[in-house]
Amino acid sequence: MTKQNVVLSDVKSGLAITVAVSNSSLFSAAVQKPLTAPGGYITISRSKLLKKLETGGVTEGRINAWVESMRASSPTRIRPTPSSTQNRDEGSWMLKHPSALNMFEEITNASKGKQIVMFLDYDGTLSPIVEDPDRAFMSESMRRAVKDVAKYFPTAIVSGRCRDKVYSFVRLAELYYAGSHGMDIKGPTKSYRNKKRNQPVLFQPANEFLPMIDEVYKALLEKTKSTPGAKVENNRFCVSVHFRCVDEKSWTELAEQVRSVLKEYPKLRLTQGRKVLEIRPTIKWDKGKALEFLLESLGFANCNNVLPLYIGDDRTDEDAFKVLRNRGQGFGILVSKVAKETKASYTLQEPSEVMDFLHRLVEWKRMSARGHSRV
Ligand SMILES: [Mg+2]
Repeated sequence: MTKQNVVLSDVKSGLAITVAVSNSSLFSAAVQKPLTAPGGYITISRSKLLKKLETGGVTEGRINAWVESMRASSPTRIRPTPSSTQNRDEGSWMLKHPSALNMFEEITNASKGKQIVMFLDYDGTLSPIVEDPDRAFMSESMRRAVKDVAKYFPTAIVSGRCRDKVYSFVRLAELYYAGSHGMDIKGPTKSYRNKKRNQPVLFQPANEFLPMIDEVYKALLEKTKSTPGAKVENNRFCVSVHFRCVDEKSWTELAEQVRSVLKEYPKLRLTQGRKVLEIRPTIKWDKGKALEFLLESLGFANCNNVLPLYIGDDRTDEDAFKVLRNRGQGFGILVSKVAKETKASYTLQEPSEVMDFLHRLVEWKRMSARGHSRV
């Protein structure tokens, strides 16, 4: 039996550990034969995968860094009038990461002879960021745009939310869904190309963490009760603590509450997003890994005839942008109105521009299909 190396990283301690796993587990089982073993949960044994991680404590400085970073990425924060230096910086940022709408022709030219595969984040990409995360609905017109895209290109929603939750917002059976940052992946239950009943791909690399995640969820509910507006969401494979409705003055206090719960769980790690802290298993599985897994599942493991497009607005989407950069394949598109450090190639300002981009893609595909039929 061959062995494969899997890197486990621990953000808090900065440790990266390489563990050898047999090819009957995690990656080979999932990646080599995902479509021949559909519908089944692929679980990994923690004892096989996790060596004892030495985790350092989360320091006060770290909490301040989270809070500061959250303030900086807060979309509703009123920004001061930009100085000429800021204008210049944003100008050079736009030169480096131009609008995907302006670069549309370059993108379609790069797709010649290739299958476009579309990856879409949900919050802040297909839906606006709203105060109550339970009400982050997408518009009917956005739903139609995504539905049309899925008629022509395999399409996946990749979200930090739990898969069921994001499905309840999107409600399109023809898509792939990767919930909990890709730790919970399911294939389409309906397909335009294949009229046969599709067998869904199902992949859950962190199944063993479920009881621990539940425990942390309950502890966080209890601990954060005293902070008005704090909302704890159980995303099945990760727990989110939302800061959206919390007074900025209480952010440090809430972050401290999260830290005090998390210090009891060295096998879990914490990541920070837009007004949210998220707690997930320490296994190295993220939106980038989900993207790779889905490409392999679709039969594009080592192919040149694929052009993945990934649209997302958050730090967690950077893992996917990085994968595309490293593969030298496809394009990452960051949804942002402000200049920020990114591995994405292009940008779109807001969800309405994402919808414009999806419309143009469908229109272009319809036109080129018509052109072909005339030849
Ligand atoms: Mg997002």
